[in-house]
Amino acid sequence: MREFHLRTCIRFIPKTSSHINYVDITADRFCSSEVGRKGGKQVLSLPEACIRGSEGVGAIIHELMHTIGFYHEQSLI
Ligand SMILES: [Zn+2]
Repeated sequence: MREFHLRTCIRFIPKTSSHINYVDITADRFCSSEVGRKGGKQVLSLPEACIRGSEGVGAIIHELMHTIGFYHEQSLI
C-alpha cells in the first residue's frame, strides 16, 4: 500500500462504519484477490506463504492491482 501511495493516486484508507464497499484482507485462501469493486465486501487473501514467498512485496502489489481492477495482461475479457 505504501508503494501505491508513493507512486500512484490510489489511496487505501481504513474502513469506517460509513463505508459500504471495502476490502477485507484475510489469510483464509491462497494468494488471491477479487478483481475490481464488486460492491460490499471484497476479499483480498494474503496468507503467510504469499507474503513471505520468493516474489516478496511484488506478490502483494500484484494482488492489490487485482483489487483495484486490473486483470492479467494476457487475460481475454
Ligand atoms: Zn494475478
